[in-house]
Amino acid sequence: MRITFLDFDNRMIKYALVTGGSRGLGRAICIKLAKMGLPVIINYQSNEDAANETKQLIETEGGVAELLPFNVTDKNAIDTALSQWEEAHPDAYIAYLVNNAGIRRDGMMFMMPDEDWHAVLDTTLNGFFYISRRLLGTMMRKRHGGKIVNISSLSGLHGMAGQANYSAAKAGLIGATKSLALEVASRNVTVNAVAPGFIDTDMTKELDKESLEQMVPMKRFGKPEEVAELVGFLMSDAASYITGEVISINGGLFT
Ligand code: NAP
Repeated sequence: MRITFLDFDNRMIKYALVTGGSRGLGRAICIKLAKMGLPVIINYQSNEDAANETKQLIETEGGVAELLPFNVTDKNAIDTALSQWEEAHPDAYIAYLVNNAGIRRDGMMFMMPDEDWHAVLDTTLNGFFYISRRLLGTMMRKRHGGKIVNISSLSGLHGMAGQANYSAAKAGLIGATKSLALEVASRNVTVNAVAPGFIDTDMTKELDKESLEQMVPMKRFGKPEEVAELVGFLMSDAASYITGEVISINGGLFT
């Protein structure tokens, strides 16, 4: 499934921005979108080596990728980075946005430090808010259009002990997805969320995989590439009438 990277009158090049594209799900999503024909902007916070590796993996396959580091919790850094990018690309705009950057700071809530609560909400919710708000104006401008996919979690749908901060952030992201989808539907912008279960990435590497796999009806963790396929579908024209949805991808866990 290929996406056309030119807008309908062939005047603007459409880019995809993936936050947290250096590793894990974000990397697989960057690679998938590049394979679908989109030039990809790989955002990351600090892991430049990993981000460069993602870029090389895309370029080896003939894709186009650029790095754009910024902290998704820092409104000014986002604005500066995106303004510089826009100045350097007068014939392009970011039409596809994947709000993927996220962190875990697990712990029982009665003992949770303030900073663990705030850091998780800040990264997931404020990150989504600052970046989406910054890019929506251009997406909604007449004739442009766009697609946003937010990476939520099974934790945001069902809750998970030890993850009150993470579940709150991911559930909040689902609420924001649904509201924003209604706000921008008439402007040819779709907004959807994906809710993965356990996926093999750095984020899950210190979990007790063997026992958690037994909870999953499919008896295994998912692969980042499997989530990337779903995101790719939501970004494609095949999903043009889907908006405000949350799609689970979890091997049958709690569905
Ligand atoms: P990961 O392997 O830990 O990668 C996290 C990515 O987010 C990295 O690229 C990291 O950049 C970036 N990041 C973190 N904080 C950032 C910030 N403040 N600004 C910019 N980038 C930031 O995580 P993952 O497993 O791929 O998870 C990706 C998303 O999927 C997250 O939202 C996560 O909550 C969600 N999710 C994951 C699972 C799972 O089982 N893995 C399940 C459900 C949902 P650096 O490389 O520079 O640090």
